[in-house]
Amino acid sequence: MPEKPYKSTLKVNPGVEKPDSVNPALRSGKKKYTREKPDVQNLFEGILKSDPTALGRGITLVESTSQKDRPAAQQLIQQCLPYSGKSFRLGITGVPGVGKSTFIESFGLLLIEKGKRVAVLAIDPSSLRTKGSILGDKTRMEALGNHPNAFIRPSASAGTLGGVARKTRESMILCEAAGFDTIFIETVGVGQSETAVSHLVDFFLLLMLSGGGDELQGIKRGIMEMADLVVINKADGDNLKKAQMAMQEYKQALHLFPPLPNGWKPEVMKASAIQKEGLEDICKQIEDFLKLTKNNGFFEKNRQQQALEILEESIHVGINEHFFHHPEINQLLEAYKNQIIEKKISPYEASEQLLSHYLKDTR
Ligand code: GDP
Repeated sequence: MPEKPYKSTLKVNPGVEKPDSVNPALRSGKKKYTREKPDVQNLFEGILKSDPTALGRGITLVESTSQKDRPAAQQLIQQCLPYSGKSFRLGITGVPGVGKSTFIESFGLLLIEKGKRVAVLAIDPSSLRTKGSILGDKTRMEALGNHPNAFIRPSASAGTLGGVARKTRESMILCEAAGFDTIFIETVGVGQSETAVSHLVDFFLLLMLSGGGDELQGIKRGIMEMADLVVINKADGDNLKKAQMAMQEYKQALHLFPPLPNGWKPEVMKASAIQKEGLEDICKQIEDFLKLTKNNGFFEKNRQQQALEILEESIHVGINEHFFHHPEINQLLEAYKNQIIEKKISPYEASEQLLSHYLKDTR
């Protein structure tokens, strides 16, 4: 067959010889890199084979805030769901600088030595507000990141805390389908994000420093109460003695808290993430926790409770989206907003009238 004449869209000034292409190499063979939308079935198959590129692209799809990507993301999640749920989900929190990344790297590598496959996800409230990240970028945890049995995802940065928590949960499903049996979810212990994380995980570990006196390093009492284990990090060198004292202090503080319904008594331990000390003891604590809660049914109960929370939250999100994307309601909403600003109607009355319009319309 004769070759089709090639029409170049390249324009040149008169008098200049016109090449048939800016880069003739592109004409031979396929383009190597396309920006095409990933095909969900391909992504799914890649994820099941634990291909890190497919997993990364799958998470990007799930994290996308574009409504257009939602159906494909939902389809991928649905396909991965039957392969998920079998991992151990570990939440890790602590103020910036306490050593979270160092700890996750050392602890993650220890678990890998024990035959585990480790994925690290992050919820970073700072990046929600400023787009800058306290939890840092991809260069963290290099040794862990380069390990074939590990997968590290930098924190998602778009949307509200609830939205990011939801995306993290969905990313977790993809990681589990890719065969990761231990999922770390890291967050900064300064705000509400640990409450969100505690709803996603089986076990919550709080990293602390041996500060002077009884100051709680900006960690609120509520976060202490959520912890299944408190670890005083940087218990090395000159700091060892102080760490020991802090341990006693925190032990006393924890004893004042009411007992947990699952029968677990949170401990305070010390570790050095850098020197890789105290990590085996932490491992043993987690094993004991799992043995206890799997035997007394609380592990499953916690997961069931989380599933019911997801149900409620998904309904909230669905209703919200439907309401605010409803074209007529949108128009009315704008009109009511103006009336509220002009003090012609109270926001309470406006919301009641809007809701009754909405309910009439959707009945
Ligand atoms: P993050 O902000 O909580 O993730 O903290 P990083 O892991 O980035 O650690 C903050 C700093 O503390 C770094 O300079 C680490 O090298 C150091 N660091 C972390 N863990 C330890 C430890 O166990 N002992 C000592 N001495 N330094 C540590």
